[in-house]
Amino acid sequence: MLSLSTKIESLNKVGPAYLKKLHKLNIKTIQDLFFHFPHRYEDFSKRTSISELKEGEKATIQAEIVEIKNTRLFHRKMSLTEALVKDNTGMIKVTWFNQPYLIETLKKGKIANFSGKLSFYKKTLCLSNPVYELAKKETTHTGRLVPIYPETEGISSRYLRFLIKPLLYLTEQLDDFLPTQVKNKFNLMDLAQAIEQIHFPKNFLLEKKARKRLAFNELFLIQLASLQQKQKIFKEKAIKLLFDKKLIKPFVDNLPFKLTDDQKIAAWEIFQDIVKNKPMNRLLNGDVGSGKTIVAIMVALAVAKQKYQVAIMTPTEILAKQHFQTFKDMLKNQKIKIALLTSSSVKKAELKKEITQGKIDIIIGTHAIIQKDVSFKNLAMAIVDEQHRFGVAQRAALQKKICQIDDGLKTIPHLLSMTATPIPRTLALTIYGDLDISLIKELPKGRQKIITKIVSPKNRDKTYNFIKEQIKEKRQVFVICPLIEESNKLTEIKSVTQEYEKLSKNVFPEFKLAMLHGKLKPKEKEKIMDEFKKAKTDILISTSVVEVGVDIPNATVMIIEGADRFGLAQLHQFRGRIGREKVQSHCFLFTDSNAQKTNMRLKAILTAKDGFELAEKDLKIRGAGDFIGTRQWGLPDLVMASLNDLELIKKSREVAEMILKNNLINQTMKLKLKDLNKDIHLE
Ligand code: ADP
Ligand code: MG
Repeated sequence: MLSLSTKIESLNKVGPAYLKKLHKLNIKTIQDLFFHFPHRYEDFSKRTSISELKEGEKATIQAEIVEIKNTRLFHRKMSLTEALVKDNTGMIKVTWFNQPYLIETLKKGKIANFSGKLSFYKKTLCLSNPVYELAKKETTHTGRLVPIYPETEGISSRYLRFLIKPLLYLTEQLDDFLPTQVKNKFNLMDLAQAIEQIHFPKNFLLEKKARKRLAFNELFLIQLASLQQKQKIFKEKAIKLLFDKKLIKPFVDNLPFKLTDDQKIAAWEIFQDIVKNKPMNRLLNGDVGSGKTIVAIMVALAVAKQKYQVAIMTPTEILAKQHFQTFKDMLKNQKIKIALLTSSSVKKAELKKEITQGKIDIIIGTHAIIQKDVSFKNLAMAIVDEQHRFGVAQRAALQKKICQIDDGLKTIPHLLSMTATPIPRTLALTIYGDLDISLIKELPKGRQKIITKIVSPKNRDKTYNFIKEQIKEKRQVFVICPLIEESNKLTEIKSVTQEYEKLSKNVFPEFKLAMLHGKLKPKEKEKIMDEFKKAKTDILISTSVVEVGVDIPNATVMIIEGADRFGLAQLHQFRGRIGREKVQSHCFLFTDSNAQKTNMRLKAILTAKDGFELAEKDLKIRGAGDFIGTRQWGLPDLVMASLNDLELIKKSREVAEMILKNNLINQTMKLKLKDLNKDIHLE
């Protein structure tokens, strides 16, 4: 007896060769087969008679085979199968290449379905290479919406259809973990029906509904996981801090600039969190250059002044150094002890001792600060900059640094994560479900608007000449190399090296150039960035992994090669590397593409007011599949595809809240959650 958990090797259609291929796709059981979804459908649902066939149209006919034979095409190593078929309206020729075995199935006198497009072959109208199937009541490959699966590992859609279709009766064994009243309330399809309809839909309407239900499953589980996470943190205790207006107000008044409203609101939200004895878990999301650092400094100041420690973790050493400098400058009159701890710090042992003794108030460093041998005396606040560069585990490790207060109570620090990745609201709701979010949307006043231009190949030289003039005026230049789809480190180096050679030999021989890519050791990378920062090099050629967060005010020109291949939000982020100075900055988007869609997309960057708007636009114009950088979250395709559906995402959260509140988590949900936590990187 077959069941959902039956291993596919016990199906007689699965031999050793296919078994290996299916295993590669992670398909091990019948249930796995059911959850391997088609990505599109061939619409062969239109049944016509031979006399009504029109050239160029997709259709299905049912006809009797009058004659069928194989011939060899002498000039090529190909075989041609030709058949003549008839129904009661007429007769037509059908041809296939290289499928001589067909004559075994499609014998003279048999009735079969043929689905395909009518076209001319050697001046006669015929059906060439149609999908075929002997006539029966229920069709699989013809006469309907036919599923097309992503054809990987040499497994054809025809084979998968042949495998899956007869097993579909087993869908009734599927454990639909959603309560019926939820399905009714939100108009969601039954799970068994959804699986049937996603593989063999009756029509596109039902197929859409099926996808929606299956996407809902994933979204719901993600929401459930993040709500659980939130609950878990909420059960912990944190140090209840004070908000001392007499400290913060004069500090803000004495800053060399006026805080933007968004900065003020963000700081206010954070202060409201940390006066509670529940751990804060907040994400500060603001464009590059929007001034997140000063918000972090205000919070660190407040905490340090109350004699608790603050830890700040950055993804790179150079960024840690930069923050160390900024914190020291900004807090120089405050009698606060600040230290830098990275893997290359000298006198590390001594420093660690001082941290443990509580002699240091603010510790800034790379992941060196979450090592086991670093223990804090009374860590009340942890800040993670460029949080998307860290794994969940690293961030959690920082928050797990436990503080023991005098009366024996254990607390974990409040956590503030910062990121400059603008993402659409739907995505934020999905991956940041467990976090509270503060947004900084506006840039500080008085920033020069960066002049951005789309440059076609014929204007390249003119642009290079302009850049030469800029360098002669002691400006520095970033060159971003095209995105490499397969993100292969070797091809990446090749593209950077080629660009470097080209620019240093042919275009800018009189200047000093340097290059940066992912294959370099961290030390080498930092050295190159450091030299650029100190203006020892004029032009820095880099892959798209250009170091995050580093402030190089003198770099005022940026070239982005193959700009059309990047996401808008990403382009915008690159561009944020420049434009920090009073002098005018320039960003040149080089593109070879003339496609209208590309240009429309790129033009959005000239008009949009912030990164969030661009992220939304990108999602709309290109669709989720192309929304760059999303792969990093490890979200299932169905979830990605539903990122344009705010309603569905909200619904999934609502249901997850309801299930959690009423304690309705069942065994199936528990199992799924376990799998999910393995696969998805909840931010
Ligand atoms: P990011 O959000 O990318 O981390 P930073 O915190 O590095 O941005 O800030 C970028 C620059 O803007 C810094 O030089 C900082 O001093 C400056 N800055 C921050 N806030 C303001 C403000 N309100 N007005 C003017 N300049 C500001
Ligand atoms: Mg920053």
